Amino acid sequence: MIGFVSTRGNDRASFREAVLSGLASDGGLYVPERIPVWKKGDLKPFQSRPYHELAHFILQPYMKGHIGESDSLSICRDAFDFPVPLVHLYDNLFALELFHGPSLAFKDFGARFLARVMGHFSRKEGMETLVLVATSGDTGSAVAQGFYRVPGIRVAVCYPSGKVSPLQEKQFATLGGNILALEVNGTFDDCQRLVKEAMVYPGLMEKFRVTTANSINVGRLLPQMVYYLYAWLNMPSQEKGLVVSVPSGNFGNLTAGLMAMRSGMPAERFVASTNVNRIFPEYLETGEYRPRASVSTLANAMDVGHPSNVERIMSLFSWNHEGISARIHGFSLNSDREILGAMEQLYRKCGYVADPHGAIGWAGLRPWLELNVNLQGFFLETAHPGKFFNDVARVVPELKMPHVLQESMQKELLSVKVEARLPEVVESILSFQPGRE
Ligand SMILES: *Cc1c(COP(=O)(O)O)cnc(C)c1O
Repeated sequence: MIGFVSTRGNDRASFREAVLSGLASDGGLYVPERIPVWKKGDLKPFQSRPYHELAHFILQPYMKGHIGESDSLSICRDAFDFPVPLVHLYDNLFALELFHGPSLAFKDFGARFLARVMGHFSRKEGMETLVLVATSGDTGSAVAQGFYRVPGIRVAVCYPSGKVSPLQEKQFATLGGNILALEVNGTFDDCQRLVKEAMVYPGLMEKFRVTTANSINVGRLLPQMVYYLYAWLNMPSQEKGLVVSVPSGNFGNLTAGLMAMRSGMPAERFVASTNVNRIFPEYLETGEYRPRASVSTLANAMDVGHPSNVERIMSLFSWNHEGISARIHGFSLNSDREILGAMEQLYRKCGYVADPHGAIGWAGLRPWLELNVNLQGFFLETAHPGKFFNDVARVVPELKMPHVLQESMQKELLSVKVEARLPEVVESILSFQPGRE
C-alpha cells in the first residue's frame, strides 16, 4: 500500500483519507510517500492499448487496499473516455492535446478521476457526498462537468451573479442532473465565504459527507501523470532525449510531469512556461521564491501569483534548488502581445491553432529543439482554442466556434438565485432534488 505524506512532514494519510480530506492537517499538501518505478519493458505493452488501460496500470498501485482491480479499471475507463491525441506539428515537435474532454480543458483529467473515486467511496460507505465549489468561472465548469451524473455525489456550484462570462455560466449552470448552480447575489468572495461556512454547517454534515474538489487534492494530481507517459510511449523514439514544456499557473501539471519522470519517463528537461506571472522561473534563476499578487493576461488560467504546487515540486527535490534547476528550465512570455505573437507564428509555421496557454508552451519548447536536432519534445495544449474565441480569432480569423460550445450557448440556465446568506444557501441545497437527465 502506498501512503501519502504532507509536504510539511507532520501528517500521514491513506489514499482514501488523502482524497477525501484534500488538504493535510498541518496545512501542507499530500504527496505519495513513494512512486513506483517502471521500466520501459513494463510500459511498452501499452503502446498500442487504449489510454484507460495505461491509466489503470499507473494508478492502481496508489489505490491498492481501497479500490480493487476491476473497480479501478472501470473508474479509469469511465473517466478517460475521450481521445488524447499527440499531434505532430513539424520536425521533432509535438502537441499533446488535452482538451478533448467535456470542459475542453485538461482539468477534466483530474476532475473526472477524482469524481469517480469519491463516488466509489460514497457508494461503498453508504454516505452521499456533497461537493461545494465557489467559482468565478473555469473551476466551476471543470468540477461540474467532471462530477456530472456520478452516482453517490451531488454538487453545489456558487457563483457571483453577473460576474461570470455567459459562456462559462452555460458550462456549469445548464447541466441539471446532480449539479445545482447557485447564482449568488454578491461577489466571488461572498461565494467563497459561503462555501467555507457551509462546509462545517451541522445540518449539511448530518446528511452528507461535505467536501470540496479543490485543485490541490492529490486525487486530481495522480491521474495527470498518465498522459506524460502515454505521450512518451507514442513519440517516434523512446531513446532520443526528451524535452517537455508545460504551460503553468498553479504548477499541478508540472508536478505531475515530474512524478511521471520519477516513475520512468526519461525526460532530459522540463520547461516551466509561464506568462508574466513568472514567480517560478525567477526562483529557478535566482534561488529566491517571491510569491506576489497576480497580473491578468490573455492566458488567464495561468494568472497565479501564489502557485500552490511549488511546495510539492520542492518536496520532490528535497528542497534543493540546484537539483530543481538542473532538471527544470524557466521560460515566460511577458506580455499579451508576445502571447498573440506566439499564436500567430505557430499558425504561420505549420497551420496549427493553439490557445493562448498552449502557445506559451510551444514558445518555451521551440528553442530547445532548434538548438539541438537530436532532441525531441512535446508541449501540453491545455485548452481548446475555441474557448478563447475572441483572442484566438484575432490571429486566426477563420477559427470556428466548437460545436459543444455553440450548443451550450443555446441551452437554458437552470440556476437558482439566492442572496449571499448561509441559511438561504443551505435551504436551497437541502431542497434540491437531483434529476435524472
Ligand atoms: C489550469 C490551467 C493551466 C495551468 O495549469 P496548472 O496545473 O495550474 O499549472 C494552464 N492552461 C489551462 C487552459 C488551464 O485551465
